[in-house]
Amino acid sequence: MSSIPKIVILGAGYGGILTAQRLQKELNYNEADVTLVNKHDYHYITTHLHMPAAGTDSIENTRVSISKLIDEFKIDLVKSSVQEIRLHDKKVILEDGTLSYDYLIIGLGGEPETFGIPGLAEHAMSIRSINSVRLIREHIEYQFALYKNERKPQERINFVVGGAGFSGIEFVAELADRIPKLCKEFDVDPALVNIYNVEAAPTALPGFAPELVEYAIDVLKKKGVTFKLGVAIKECTPNGVLLSTGEEIRSATVVWTGGIRGNRLIEAAGFETIRGRVKVDEYLRAPGYENIYIIGDNSLVYNGDRPYPPTAQIAMQQGVCCAQNIVSAIRGKELRKFEFHHKGTVASLGKGAGIAVVGDKTYQGWKAAQLKKLVDLRYLFIIGGITLVLKKGRFL
Ligand code: FAD
Ligand code: NAD
Repeated sequence: MSSIPKIVILGAGYGGILTAQRLQKELNYNEADVTLVNKHDYHYITTHLHMPAAGTDSIENTRVSISKLIDEFKIDLVKSSVQEIRLHDKKVILEDGTLSYDYLIIGLGGEPETFGIPGLAEHAMSIRSINSVRLIREHIEYQFALYKNERKPQERINFVVGGAGFSGIEFVAELADRIPKLCKEFDVDPALVNIYNVEAAPTALPGFAPELVEYAIDVLKKKGVTFKLGVAIKECTPNGVLLSTGEEIRSATVVWTGGIRGNRLIEAAGFETIRGRVKVDEYLRAPGYENIYIIGDNSLVYNGDRPYPPTAQIAMQQGVCCAQNIVSAIRGKELRKFEFHHKGTVASLGKGAGIAVVGDKTYQGWKAAQLKKLVDLRYLFIIGGITLVLKKGRFL
């Protein structure tokens, strides 16, 4: 190792930003070189992407310039796309250069999991990034415009969301809130618009408290969502989706929220993975590599015999722990075991409604919606202090 260790962080998502900020705070001057690599020069608030996707909030409220979150005198920001991780050479290949590392943190986030379902990768859209949600939003508006200019247009105003996990439910809720406004703008009868949420499991939000699931379904049905529960999407075509019941839903808009997997660069690097995610050790290191930490949606941390679900909450806590462990490793001190502290789960059901579980308490309706707001504000405060809260906090 060189006299000043080189630390490279891949990805400036929830895990990567928290790691960078903690390293910036804890490392002494000249103790290490830290480089943060991200595809874009902004950090996006993934937990909010369902809103700009449906068009109920602006893209600008969902992203923050990374240079506002880190001190570029302490951390080098490289805007580039990672192409390859070369473990044996301790190098990362970027689209426009190469970086060497002594310590590597991989926080590249997940990718949509299509489970090999034919046509999904080609014909469905997904909620993963600023660019992907911009496409969904523009696409939906364009379908309304086309509807007024075509002769057999019902599929233009049929919308299909595949999967009723958290992402699917939060997105259909926003879409249902947006439809009346689009109908008004494009002069379309709202009764003709259909939103279908197709879920393979017997219930929406599998694993969530049944009374909250029932409440959520009730709220969304009242907003005009049609649920197809216990029904799987078998194929996606240019004309819509084919279901396990044999039914076809004709639709020009299919948004896939059926699950996520780890980033494909991880398995390409040669790590052993389960659906693209690496089972990390108790300190968050990749097995066999004392200098490589894997965090967020790319890592698997077990709670007994089941992994914790990939969430922003765990990614943030991992970011803090892995930064502390790297500082300790550099200083020859003992590493800290990662322990996840689950603070609760909140899901939005569109304007003014939500469901939440905090400890042994459950919340629904307006209270849960306020909790969701609090969680958002807390995150903005953690990464950007009061200035960011005031700038992006959506108080209106
Ligand atoms: P991400 O936050 O996804 O960040 C990955 C970063 O890596 C991005 O900046 C990306 O641009 C960058 N990147 C990717 N590939 C490359 C490359 N090749 N080169 C360079 N950079 C690259 N979790 C919760 O806890 N609460 C919620 O309310 C919640 N809501 C959600 C709502 C939606 C719609 C979605 C999709 C997810 C939600 N989640 C929520 C899950 C949560 O967003 C993820 O678990 C979390 O973002 C994972 O953090 P991460 O750091 O692993 O990756
Ligand atoms: P998920 O894996 O949680 O849910 C995907 C859903 O799609 C499942 O219910 C699954 O049964 C269904 N599905 C899979 N194949 C299908 C098929 N062929 N046809 C129909 N349905 C199918 O994925 P997600 O909702 O994107 O969430 C990903 C992660 O992000 C999770 O860990 C989740 O907890 C987290 N998240 C959290 C929040 C929140 O806390 N508010 C919001 C969004 C996402």
